[in-house]
This record gives sequence, structure tokens and C-alpha cells, in this order.
Amino acid sequence: MGRKKLIWQLFPSYVLVLLISVAAVTWYASASWRRFYLEQTAKDLEMRACLAVVSMQERLTAGTTPTDSLCKELGKLTATRLTLILPDGQVAGDSEEDPARMENHGDRPEFQDALKGRVGVSTRFSFTLRQDMMYVAVPVKEENQVVGVMRAALPLTAIARALKSLYLKIALGALVIVLLVAALSWMISRRISRPLDDLTRGARRFAQGDLSRKLPVPDSEELGSLAEAMNHMAAQLEDRIRTLTSQRQEQEAILASMVEGVLALNTEGRVITLNQAGARLLGVSPQAAANLSLREVVKDRELLWFVQRTRSSGEPVEGEVELKDDRERVLQIHGTSLRDADGRVMGTLLVFHDITTLKQLENTRRDFVANVSHELKTPITAIKGFVETLLAGALKEPENADNFLRIIAQHTDRLNEIIDDLLSLSRIEQDAERRQIVLTAQRIKGVLQAAVQICEAKAAAKGILLELTCPEELRASINAPLLEQALVNLIDNAVKFSPTGSAVAVEAERVGTEIAIRVKDQGIGIPKEHLPRIFERFYRVDPGRSRKIGGTGLGLAIVKHIAQAHGGRVAVQSTPGQGSAFSLILPQA
Ligand code: ADP
Repeated sequence: MGRKKLIWQLFPSYVLVLLISVAAVTWYASASWRRFYLEQTAKDLEMRACLAVVSMQERLTAGTTPTDSLCKELGKLTATRLTLILPDGQVAGDSEEDPARMENHGDRPEFQDALKGRVGVSTRFSFTLRQDMMYVAVPVKEENQVVGVMRAALPLTAIARALKSLYLKIALGALVIVLLVAALSWMISRRISRPLDDLTRGARRFAQGDLSRKLPVPDSEELGSLAEAMNHMAAQLEDRIRTLTSQRQEQEAILASMVEGVLALNTEGRVITLNQAGARLLGVSPQAAANLSLREVVKDRELLWFVQRTRSSGEPVEGEVELKDDRERVLQIHGTSLRDADGRVMGTLLVFHDITTLKQLENTRRDFVANVSHELKTPITAIKGFVETLLAGALKEPENADNFLRIIAQHTDRLNEIIDDLLSLSRIEQDAERRQIVLTAQRIKGVLQAAVQICEAKAAAKGILLELTCPEELRASINAPLLEQALVNLIDNAVKFSPTGSAVAVEAERVGTEIAIRVKDQGIGIPKEHLPRIFERFYRVDPGRSRKIGGTGLGLAIVKHIAQAHGGRVAVQSTPGQGSAFSLILPQA
């Protein structure tokens, strides 16, 4: 704003210089011309006066014509006013006036000069003719004596008219020169300013980040060097930006690929960097978190306190933080001060590791040990109680002793069952882990028939009908004994939790790319809240009832592990009072 373009600084200066010089030259030329013209006119008048003197002397010698008449005649011939003045100043003849009416001319400067034998020149107002005139007077000599003065005169208006036309020509010439030179100046100004315009445009492009297009190099040495220097600078800048960008991309790629969450804060506690894993763990978006203060990103008090501890300690800090928002997560965090190359503290760096699964596993194992102990404790306590009673004397009462021993045998069986189930569960887990479970692609109908057969006796005892539906050609990659064990568990449960006289259906079909084997009953069903945990070890809907009807609480856990060992999964649908449907879903052969 307010700044003029270079061309509008150059061009007016040129025009000013041009106008001053043309005006000076015009003035000087006009003055010279005027002087020259006046000199010429004076010479001309002198000549005319001299000629008039010669002509008059000749005529006077002939002696007829009076002097005044001669003046008038010669004046008309030469178109000049001629005046003959006697040495005493009296006018003897005049081409325009009657000499008798003219005053004495003795005081006229040109007359006085002529009297002294020189040529007199004077320019002034003529009272006789009432206008400005130029007078030139020459002496008339006879035998070296001045006997009179012949004066020739011209009105200045004639001279002025001649000069005016001359001035007009000079002015016209000057105008043409001014126009031509102004056009030339315009072209020169543009020639100077255009490369600068180009440079400016190029520099602006550089500023906008387009460093790839080079500036044109002008011919002039200074501008050429400037353009080359700027091109060089742009190339270096581009190179540096490329290096920085690739470094940043590498850094971002490393951070983005890290499994650990990384959070860097500046000294004011604002987020400098938060990688994808970190953002995922904290449940925020990395872009949204940038430059926000930690308190705006994280609400968890425990985590904020940990950061505070890291900032104040100056030493690396390690700890576990449990985030208690919508989904529970346990993070292991390493916190340390962020330092620059000179060791100055720039902020805080936190590295998170999600140990939720690890923690869950730890909890599961702890629960499992507690559960196993509890499961084993019940029969052992019972056995111990009866053995003590027998020892205390009951052994001698044959009726009681028999009864007590039978109960002891029942509990021993139960212990055995639990241990069998635990062993088989751990074997399946171990084999699956070591990939020692051999799967063979085969028809599955035979396996389903075998499982149904095993359970048939128990079902018949309760008056329950087992129905099998399975297409002959249905094939899957299976381990037959394991699949049979899983199905026996499911059918056994169905029979256990169904009323007398109901039916249990075992069906298999292809669903998309998978094989679904379902065991459906019309039994008591499972309330919705228990469904998510039903496949956990020792989980029972009704522990008392389950134990009474001889369940270990491990049957479904075994089914789940067998399904997983086959690369498949389990599912359950149930409505209390109407029945349940357990599904084993296996990948197709
Ligand atoms: P259990 O040996 O006690 O049967 P499972 O792991 O086989 O142990 O089953 C766990 C629990 O799931 C059972 O205690 C029972 O409450 C419930 N359950 C399993 N199958 C059925 C079913 N078909 N109908 C109703 N409840 C079932």
C-alpha cells in the first residue's frame, strides 16, 4: 500500500529530465535565434541606408529633385522608412512624414553614434509613427566630413511576426522531440522494470512454497547475479525441506508403527506428539489432541498424577495405571524428561504399554487356582467328615457305615471327575499351543452319530429323544475324538437340563464357508446375564443344582477349547423356560 511501481518512478523522472532539457534547449535556441535575427535585420537596415545614401548622392549631384521627395521615393522602393538628418539634428527628408512637422532629431542615440562616424543602432518607440521601431543610422560623408546622417527604420512588429513563426517552429520541433523521447523513455523504463517484475513474481512463488520453478536470469549483471543467487537459495531450501520432510515422515512412520503408545508433552504440559497407539489407548484422536493441554486430553486422575510425578522427579519413573473409563485398561507407563541435544529439559515423554490382557490372564489364573481349590475342597471336606465319623465309632454301626462309605465313594468319584476334566482341559490347551492337534478333512456325520450313541442310554433313562440331522457329504477338518468329546459334553448338558420326555436335536449344516453343529434342547434355558460368561471354567448358573446333578463346571470350557483348537468358535442362544441352542462353528474342510 502506498508504494509505487518502479516504472512509475523511472518514467516520470525521465520525463522531468527530458522536459527540463528540452525547455532549456528551446529557450537557448530561441534567444540565439532572436539575437541573430535582430543582428541580421540591423545589418540589412544598414545596407539599405548605405544604398539609399549612394543613390541619393548620385541624384543630388544631378541637382533636380528635392531631398524629401528622394527619401519618399527610395523609402517606397525599399519598403523601409528612410530619414535624412542634417548634422544639426534637423530632418531634411523622411519617407513617411513631412520633415517640416518633425522635431529636431539631434538627441537620438543612433544619430549621435552616426555623427561620430560609426553605425548607430537603436530600438525604441517612435512618437512619429506611434509604434516600436528599429533604427540604424549611417553617416553621409563628403571629403571625410560628416554632412548628414541617413537613418533606415523598420517597425518591430514585422520583426516580431517573423520571430513568432520561428518560435512556433522551434516549439513544434521540441514537442515532437518530447513525444519521441518520452516514448523511448517508456520503453527503457519497461526494459529496466520488467525483469524486476519477473524476479518479484518468482520470489513470491518461492514464498508460497513453489521452489521447483526457477527464476528467469536477466541480461544485466546485477539482476542476473540476484536471480542466480535466489535460484541457488531456492534449490538449497528445497533440498533442506525435502530432507526435513523425509526425516519427519520416517519419524512419523516409526511412531505410527510402534505398538507402545508415545506421548510427548512440552514444559507447559501441552501435547507435542501423540502416536496412533497412544491415542488408541487414551481413547482420543491424535490430530485433535495436538497442542491441547494434557488435562483437556486425559481426564483420568491417576494418569495425571503419574505425569505430575514424572515432571517433578526428574528421574525416569515407571508405574501401572488403571484407566477407569468406559472400557477398563491397565497401562504400564515409563515416564522420563524430554531433553534436547544440550541436555535442557524440553518437556516430558511417556511410553505406554497396554498390559490389560496380561492383567486379565493373571487374574484368570488367580481365579482359576482359587476355583480349583474351592472345587476340590468341597468333596475332600465331605470325605474327611465321614471318615472321622466312621473312625469315631460309626464303623461299628453296619447300616450307617455302609451309607457313609457310599457317600465317600460318590465324593471320590466327583474328585476324579474334576481331575479328569482338568487334565483333559490342560491337555487340549497344551496340544493346541504346541500345534499337536492333528486335523483331518473328513465327513462329520459319523462323529455326530458316535456322540449321540454315547449319550443315548442316559437320555433314554430320562425319556428324552435324541434326533440327529446331518447331510451325508458334510465335511470338515476335524480331530474326531476331540469333536466327539465336545459334542458329548453339549448333549450331556442338554439332557441334564431338560425335563423328562422332551427332545434334544443335534443338527449340522453349511453356513457360508463354515460348518455349524447345533445342539438344541427344550430345557430350563439360561438367563441373559449369564450368557457372556457361560464358557468360563467353573462358571455355573446355579452352582448347587449343577453339583447335585453331577457337573464339574468345566464341560463348556472344554467345548470352547476344542472349538478353538479346530480354528472355530462357540456360540449360545437361550431363552429361560424355553430352551438353549449351543453351536460349534468350524471352518469348512
Ligand atoms: P457343568 O458341568 O456344571 O454342566 P458346564 O461347563 O457344562 O458345567 O456348564 C456350565 C453351566 O452352564 C451349567 O452349570 C449350567 O448352569 C449351564 N448350562 C450348560 N448347558 C446348559 C443347557 N443345555 N441348558 C441350561 N443350562 C446349561
